[in-house]
Amino acid sequence: ENVLLDVRNLGVQFVVRKGGHRGKHPVVHAVNDVSFFVRNGETLGLVGESGCGKTTLGRSLLRLVNGDVKGEIRFEDTLLGSLNAREFREIRRNMQMIFQDPFSSLNPRLTIGQMLSEVLAVHKVVARDKIREKVYELLDIVGLNREYYNRYPHEFSGGQRQRVGIARALAVNPKFIICDEPVSALDVSIQSQIINLLKDLQHEFGLTYLFIAHDLSVVEYISDRVAVMYLGRIVEIASAEELYSRPMHPYTRALMSAIPLPELDRKRQRILLKGDIPSPLDMPSGCSFHPRCPDAMERCRAIEPQLLPLKDNPEHFVSCLLYEERR
Ligand code: SF4
Repeated sequence: ENVLLDVRNLGVQFVVRKGGHRGKHPVVHAVNDVSFFVRNGETLGLVGESGCGKTTLGRSLLRLVNGDVKGEIRFEDTLLGSLNAREFREIRRNMQMIFQDPFSSLNPRLTIGQMLSEVLAVHKVVARDKIREKVYELLDIVGLNREYYNRYPHEFSGGQRQRVGIARALAVNPKFIICDEPVSALDVSIQSQIINLLKDLQHEFGLTYLFIAHDLSVVEYISDRVAVMYLGRIVEIASAEELYSRPMHPYTRALMSAIPLPELDRKRQRILLKGDIPSPLDMPSGCSFHPRCPDAMERCRAIEPQLLPLKDNPEHFVSCLLYEERR
């Protein structure tokens, strides 16, 4: 039903090559058997601590990783893995990405106007003689005026640079945008401006977002549904409302308990997790969260829980042995 992106059993692994190391090279499973979908016009938030695989997941959808990618990715019913490079480029226009640091993806020697013109020309978005007009329109859409046309990236503030990053993504009229920590590097007041801009653009152009971030408050504000990742796996997915009011996976609960609360409501107890995130080279057996889980049971060491829907809420998926009866 109205699914734009459908991902099944996605895996991304990297072989770690050590100089002079003989025998088998260790393999890191950065993303491990991940399945999810994104509906047309919605925002799916993807949260987790750094190193959990969320950025690799996002990049793998656009063939931007060097690792070995397995599984099925369907975009509008097209199986992306079956496409050759040329066919993929065609579809790829519909799938754009916004990065945490737009500066790193902006050529410092081009003015913003030149840079956007180049994108429009390469993708033949409009006729040559309409390019300048289109650039003005793009600048306008992201809240920058014409005066910015002749400026260089270093003359922009962080928030303005992110607006340019958004303009560049929008230039090719995409349907789907992967926002990878787009506001993490910005001041809080600027963060909300950019998030509100993304929301407005979503309504105006019917965009669909995969919104990757570690800040749970930001994700709650922008997302319709949220997926939580831990050590390369999705451990819980639900509507934002459900997940933030009834988190079920012990890891999600711990993450939620760390969100600062407004003054009046101080009831929540912070759940502190023991230990550090294990190295992906040395994955724990069974449930990979068991060494840190406050609710771990004996069988959690041996049995790997599956991400399954709850009986009473088929939109709420959780991967934890505590809820076996309820799934
Ligand atoms: Fe904790 Fe066990 Fe659930 Fe894993 S399966 S999250 S260890 S209770």
